Amino acid sequence: MTTLASALALLVALAVAGVLFGRRAHLLYRIVRLGKPTDRTGDAGRRARTEATVVLGQRKLLQRVVPGLVHALVFWGFVVLLPTILMALLGAVDEDWTLPWLGHQGWYLLLVDVFCVLVLVGVIAAFGIRKVQRPARFEGSHLREADLILGLIAVIVTTLLLWHASQIALGIAEWPAGWSPLSNAIATAMGDGAWLETGERVFVWLHVLTILSFLVYLPYSKHLHIGTAGINVWFGRTRSRGRLEPLDFEVEDEAALRLGSGTLVDMTWKQMLDTMSCTECGRCQDVCPAWATGKDLSPKLLIMGLRDRLFAEGPAVLDGREPTALVPAAVTDEVVWDCVTCGACVHECPVSIEHVDHIVDLRRHLVMAESRFPAEAGTMLRDVGRSSNPWGKPQSERAAWADGLGVRVLEPGDPAPEVLYWVGCAASFDERARASARATATLLLHAGLDVGILGPRESCTGDPARRMGDEFTFQEQARRNVATLGEAGVTRIVTSCPHCFNTLGSEYTDFGGSYEVVHHTELLAELLADGRLEAPEGTDPITYHDSCYLARHNDVVAAPRAIVSRIGRPLEMARHGKRTFCCGAGGAHMWMEERGSAINEERAREAAATGAETLAVACPFCTMMLDDGVRQTGSGLRVADVAVLLAEAVVPASGD
Ligand code: SF4
Ligand code: SF4
Repeated sequence: MTTLASALALLVALAVAGVLFGRRAHLLYRIVRLGKPTDRTGDAGRRARTEATVVLGQRKLLQRVVPGLVHALVFWGFVVLLPTILMALLGAVDEDWTLPWLGHQGWYLLLVDVFCVLVLVGVIAAFGIRKVQRPARFEGSHLREADLILGLIAVIVTTLLLWHASQIALGIAEWPAGWSPLSNAIATAMGDGAWLETGERVFVWLHVLTILSFLVYLPYSKHLHIGTAGINVWFGRTRSRGRLEPLDFEVEDEAALRLGSGTLVDMTWKQMLDTMSCTECGRCQDVCPAWATGKDLSPKLLIMGLRDRLFAEGPAVLDGREPTALVPAAVTDEVVWDCVTCGACVHECPVSIEHVDHIVDLRRHLVMAESRFPAEAGTMLRDVGRSSNPWGKPQSERAAWADGLGVRVLEPGDPAPEVLYWVGCAASFDERARASARATATLLLHAGLDVGILGPRESCTGDPARRMGDEFTFQEQARRNVATLGEAGVTRIVTSCPHCFNTLGSEYTDFGGSYEVVHHTELLAELLADGRLEAPEGTDPITYHDSCYLARHNDVVAAPRAIVSRIGRPLEMARHGKRTFCCGAGGAHMWMEERGSAINEERAREAAATGAETLAVACPFCTMMLDDGVRQTGSGLRVADVAVLLAEAVVPASGD
């Protein structure tokens, strides 16, 4: 073929691929534009850092070393080999054409050889994982599509090597052949037959046409993530992971009032982009406590279900048709209510998909627009609204746990204390959790701190209502508490409940409440470190359970461990720190019937397997759930809050 004929052929190929790719990309763009607004501007520096570590550095994927490395090899190979696409396009037109400068650099062609091998190793290893190891996380994923993609990648890399080798064999390589050891070796094996001239053309055209086919196939396949993942990571959350986006009930135009996600047009554009970025890797499914205990919810299948609905209905909705309800068309009611909002899926997801936001938005619509929720949880919602606590107890009993301890109960007009102890509903009303409140208050007073509590003026933070989807009740509670805290002049808060900790510290800022909020384990560890509390070194084996809302959502990992390692001999569970496993109470599950096997029992068994005698916790809900779990599994572990254990060591007479 002459240069002109080749150029024309390439133009036709590019035009066909461009039209097919462009049409699909434009449709996807228009679907995303259907989404509701959500502000993901600002924090450019942080976004750039996340992009560098999560996308370029493959940080999240490398949390699992072998599959992470396999993906990283293919991804890094893709980045390094990107310029070879331009080289091949030029080379397809004329065998003597290549990229100026870079196409003549021996070091770059050495890199190309090396990364071709690494990509092939990655592809073979990926096939091995899928076909031989067959991890459960792929259950429900589109495996045939993945096979096709891997096959196309192998063809692209192999034809690149063969093209380079044939150029070396023909003596037309634009770079010193000695820099390409593998291509050179293949060139030697090719010999100098007459077929080489044709072979070189066949290899480069096969290479170019495979790349174009790959490009066209991408937006129609699950490997769409190659184009969307980097964008999705850029627009990921930059504020606290535990914070939920508030709904605006004050909108002037009632049509603009959004009550969560009822149909696909209620989803935000970020949520739509989320669904298009899923790689179906199943890492989220693998860590999900709901899935692990036999429930219907898989965060992966949830995102895939939403994506399927988007693709099935999006074009018709763009043409003006009414969308159908996401529940049950995309996901079932059971899936929506199975979630404990532990955030393990979000933490694991390599492309920054925000599953919890999706689930809470689906709940918001069911609860607020349809009054549809598990019957047993309705009592809790009513009690939060009427009695200001989910136990439905009289507020006058809120400070009963503190009788005789000498804690100051703040009356209106009293001077603000050095630190306000926000007790939370669980530690105020549940007998097992009250032990933690008594121990915390005792220790703080023992250390000489000026501590006060709000007593009957403290009201539920609204966390369980919010996680249930009742944003309206949550915002009422939030506004009331922010007003009370403001009147009391509070600036520093300590709380022993990770849910209150998350809500007061990360969510009340949206309602004008801005305080320094610390968890009781942080304050106690600080007092221990600066000598205001003294405890003898202990040797009893203790395993510590990280609460999801403390460790994963709010990064508090070291402080409770500092206390545990002072008063005992720490033994870690397999799942700990930010990769902890839920106790089963989150997402308002404290007030819901559990289907399938029990999450708390699974965690209690894991704790017992460490050989510890004590299971230390730092959350009143974990205390209750794991205490039940230990009883059900009969392991005999003692479940106690870190504060209780510390109080026993510091002030033995007062410890519970
Ligand atoms: S938040 Fe936890 S329970 Fe909910 S889907 Fe994610 S991993 Fe599963
Ligand atoms: S949601 Fe994230 S972790 Fe889950 S399968 Fe998709 S890409 Fe993987």
